[in-house]
Amino acid sequence: MSNRTMVAGNWKMNTTPAEGAALAQAVIEHVGTPGTKVVFGVPAIQLTQIQALTSKAPGFYVAAQNMHQEDSGAYTGEISARMLAAAGVDYVILGHSERRDYFGEDDTLIHAKILKALAAGVQPIYCCGEKLNIRQAGNHEMVVGKQIEQALFTLEAEQMRQVVIAYEPVWAIGTGVTASPEQAQDMHAFIRRMIHNYFGQDVAESTTILYGGSVKPDNAEELFGMPDVDGGLVGGASLDAAGFAAIVKAL
Ligand code: PEP
Repeated sequence: MSNRTMVAGNWKMNTTPAEGAALAQAVIEHVGTPGTKVVFGVPAIQLTQIQALTSKAPGFYVAAQNMHQEDSGAYTGEISARMLAAAGVDYVILGHSERRDYFGEDDTLIHAKILKALAAGVQPIYCCGEKLNIRQAGNHEMVVGKQIEQALFTLEAEQMRQVVIAYEPVWAIGTGVTASPEQAQDMHAFIRRMIHNYFGQDVAESTTILYGGSVKPDNAEELFGMPDVDGGLVGGASLDAAGFAAIVKAL
């Protein structure tokens, strides 16, 4: 198995600290020693407790679901990359479509967050993906291409090596509709070509590109079987320990 593989769960605004601890523990027990990186994207209030679990479980990591682009200051309610790094957080999900839609985040802001995360030593999981009308109009490569360019194309190659990309067609998130393995593969290959053209073959071949959008135990294997699909970013199905473990084992 290639060392660029990963399955990341995005719990979103679900689970209390006690529920989150039980969920992570149950996943760790179901999976045993994973053959891939397994990431729990947890609510901010649970980061330290889940980090305490993952730090003792080889192959498991913890991710924040967001962070602020400034180091510190009068930003009530926010968390900085420095704080995440100091808490031992490995990854941060940035640019999720829910952050773009409900909190007005655009690629200029997300780019600033990516730079801060990298400077602090927290690896960004950068989410991109088109809405349904864009796909229907056949403009999905143009839109995703622009997202990749704006968010990533001023990074140094060494910085890009730290970035995980998650292609998440917005029409497939939380809808039960999944991109077909061919649709996922086409877009992942397109993204990898863009990385190749800008950063070179070596970076392109080592970049992890996850698929996200209604990944379930019964469709994971087919999606993960595509050559440029390196794993998944999983929302709803990451809240069920046995189901999420089955998705991890499908990779
Ligand atoms: C997500 O929110 O990143 C996601 C992929 O959600 P779901 O798996 O529920 O579609």
